[in-house]
Amino acid sequence: LKVTAPFTVEIKHLDFHYADSNKQIIKGLDLKIVNGEKIAILGRSGSGKSTLASLIRGDLRPSGGIVSLNHKKTYLFGDTISDYIGVIHQAPYLFNTTIRNNLSIGNEKASEQDLWDVLDRVGLKKMILDLPEKMDTLVDEAGLRFSGGERHRLALARILLKNVPIIILDEPTVSLDPVTEQKLIETFITELQGKTLIWITHHLQGLSLMDQVIFLEDGKLQMSGNPQEL
Ligand code: ATP
Ligand code: MG
Repeated sequence: LKVTAPFTVEIKHLDFHYADSNKQIIKGLDLKIVNGEKIAILGRSGSGKSTLASLIRGDLRPSGGIVSLNHKKTYLFGDTISDYIGVIHQAPYLFNTTIRNNLSIGNEKASEQDLWDVLDRVGLKKMILDLPEKMDTLVDEAGLRFSGGERHRLALARILLKNVPIIILDEPTVSLDPVTEQKLIETFITELQGKTLIWITHHLQGLSLMDQVIFLEDGKLQMSGNPQEL
C-alpha cells in the first residue's frame, strides 16, 4: 500500500479486545489526527494507551471499526507501515552492534555526514565524539554509558534519518527528571516540525506544547481539547 501526503489518521468507532481475553480495551473510539498535528494521549496505567498506539500503527487489527491512514486501513500495510509511522517504545530497542549500524539499519542511503548531522540535532554528537571509537563504539559497551534519555535520543535520531511523517512516542520520558523531560520534549517538538506526533504519557509536563490532548478512560475518549483550555 502506498499513500501520499498530506497524511491523516482517522479512527472510527474503534473497538478492541485481545484475542485471548473478553475484556474490551477500546470501546467505540473516534479520533482524527491531521497532518503535522501534535497530540498527547493520557490515561492511567492499563487504560489502553499502548494498545491504541499498536492499533494506529496497524500492528494490531481492530475487533470493530476502522483505523486508517489516508483512507487505507493501517493493519493492511504490513511492513510498509514503517515508511509512514515510526514508534519509539518506552524502552527503545538498540541493536547489539555499533552506534553507526544502529543508525544505518533501514537507513542505508544515509552518508557519514547525515549520521553526524542527525546526532547533532538530537544533542548526542558531542558525547559520541568523546568516545574513543566514536560511532564505531559498540552499544553493548556504550549502553552502559547511555542514560534513558540518551537512548531515546538515539532512537529519535534513527527515526529522523528515516524521515517518516508520523511518529508515536510511547512514554519516552517516564524515567526522566522534570527538567530533562522538558528539554527532551522540546527537542522532539522542534525536530518533528511539520510531522505528526502522537505522544503517550502519564505526565502533565510539556502538554502546553501540544495541539490536542486526549484522555483515555474505560476504552473511550473522556475529554479532549486544546491544552490551554484544560
Ligand atoms: P501503561 O500506562 O501501564 O503503559 P497502557 O495504558 O499502555 O498502560 P495497555 O498496555 O494498552 O495499557 O494495556 C491495556 C490493557 O490490555 C491492560 O489491561 C493489559 O493487561 C491488557 N493487555 C495488554 N497487552 C495484552 C496482550 N498482549 N494480551 C492480553 N491483554 C493485554
Ligand atoms: Mg503503555
